[in-house]
Parts: sequence; structure tokens; C-alpha cells
Amino acid sequence: MTDRYAVIGNPIAHSKSPAIHTQFARQTGQDVRYEALLAPLEGFAATVQKFVNEGGKGVNVTVPFKLEAYALATELTERARAAGAVNTLSFNGGKIAGDNTDGIGLVTDIMRNAGFILSGKRVLLVGAGGAARGVVLPLLQQQPAELVIANRTEQRALELANQFASHGRVHADQFSRLAGQFDLVINATSASLHDDVPPLAPALFAASTLAYDMMYGKEPTAFMRFAAQQGATVRDGLGMLVEQAAEAFFVWRGVRPDTGPVFASLRAQM
Ligand code: NDP
Repeated sequence: MTDRYAVIGNPIAHSKSPAIHTQFARQTGQDVRYEALLAPLEGFAATVQKFVNEGGKGVNVTVPFKLEAYALATELTERARAAGAVNTLSFNGGKIAGDNTDGIGLVTDIMRNAGFILSGKRVLLVGAGGAARGVVLPLLQQQPAELVIANRTEQRALELANQFASHGRVHADQFSRLAGQFDLVINATSASLHDDVPPLAPALFAASTLAYDMMYGKEPTAFMRFAAQQGATVRDGLGMLVEQAAEAFFVWRGVRPDTGPVFASLRAQM
């Protein structure tokens, strides 16, 4: 019998997850159907319950429900607990297991697909929202020389750095006080949605810097254009999207899909 999975969000029509998981299933020979479910803003838990009652095996969760998914889970992985948010739920005999694959998706894209080694590197994480919170632990696990967090609302950056202080060399700083060049600059803000760039000095970038924007699209984001002007190598978050999906597929099915062809076909369709 075909196993059913879905992505739940609001809005959801734009989601690329059904296309990604359908390709994963075809590629690995898994008997899986994956759909997009629109949940009313006040109806996330009810939408999940209905899907479980219909025999659904798991869901991905996207904006704005990742915190609700965290609260709904009856058990959590360490990375979900650290992120304080859940993007992958698995249903098994009344239990709801919550996981977060966003962080490992970013790290896999940076290390395997972009060929960037994080160990010993100076890393700047810009932003302190949900996406930033999910990537701090997986980044620190790669033992960068230091991880600096800068955010428009400074207090949020401080809280984030404090939360993970026991996991590695991480601290918060104001934009105006950032100094020296970084090997990797990750834009985890939503500034690119408004064609805006966080207030980063050009001198923070070197020719060898990888400038990574979690946002993705047909055209380079404002952050990517700015970083490229400073000579940096730029990359958008499409690979992160595909890799977080691959990790969720592995959590559910125990099989690792080949992400390369899926990434290429998504890029071609943009
Ligand atoms: P949140 O709303 O939780 O956080 C937004 C962050 O952006 C905050 O740190 C906020 O600062 C900052 N910010 C917003 N506008 C500006 C601005 N004009 N200048 C400087 N900073 C700004 O969003 P998320 O963390 O969920 O998402 C962030 C980005 O990551 C989005 O673009 C999203 O699309 C992308 N993303 C990509 C994924 C992928 O798979 N590729 C997965 C998840 C997210 P403040 O605290 O001051 O408000």
C-alpha cells in the first residue's frame, strides 16, 4: 500500500516539497505519495490529526507552523530540541516524533555540495530568527574557529549565542563592531524578501569568502549581489532546501536519495 506524506503550511501553493519528494520516491523506488496541505492559521493540529486519521505516515512543516509542530510532538530529537522548532513529524502508533532537518540541510549543502570545510573557519551568522536558531548547533558541531552572530535586534543575537555557549566558540556582536574578514557569511535574515541587505561592511568579505543566502530564487538576492561586488563566492539556499528534504526522507524511509539530479531539475525550472 502506498504510504502518504505531506507538507503543511500557510500559504503552501508555492511549496517545492511535493516535487522534491516525488522525485526522491521515484529515484529510490519507494512507494510514497507526497502532497501539499493548506492548514488554516488556527487549524494546524486539526489538519495534522485528520492526516493521521487517514493513515498519513509523516509531514514536513513550514511557515508559520514550526513552533506549533514542536509543541505537538510527543518526542523530540536533540537537534529539534536545540532548534526549538520542528520541520519533520513522523507518526507511529499514537506517538508523534518531531525532528528538525533544516540545520543539517544547510551544513550538508555547504560542506558536500559547495565543498567548503567548516572546521577552523571564521563564520558569521546574520540573523537570529527561526532559521538561524536551527543552524547554530550543526554549525558548531563542525568546530569552526569561531561563530559570530549579528542581528538587527541585538538582544536576540545575544540570547542565541548564550543558549549555545557550551557547544563551542560562539558569541554575539553588533554589526558596527564586526571586524576582520570572515571565511563564511550566512544570511539567515528575511531581508532579501524585501530586496534589502543587512548592514555589513564590505571589509568583512574576502575573495575567498563564501557568502551564503538561505533564501533562493531565479535571480541572485540583494545580499548575494552585495557580496559578489566584494569579490566573494555566492550561493543561495536552494541546496539547503533539497538537503533538508533528503534528510527528512531518510528519517521516514531509511534511504538516502541522490540530491544532485533533483537540485539540477529544480534550478532548471526556476
Ligand atoms: P524569522 O522571521 O524567524 O526571522 C527573520 C530574521 O531576519 C530576524 O533575525 C530579523 O531580525 C531579520 N531581518 C528581517 N528583516 C531584516 C532587515 N531588513 N535587515 C536586517 N535583518 C532583518 O524568519 P526565518 O528565520 O524563518 O527565515 C529567514 C530566511 O531564511 C527567510 O528568507 C527564509 O526564506 C529562509 N529559509 C530558507 C530555508 C531553506 O531551506 N533554504 C529554510 C528556512 C528559512 P529581527 O530579529 O531584528 O527582527
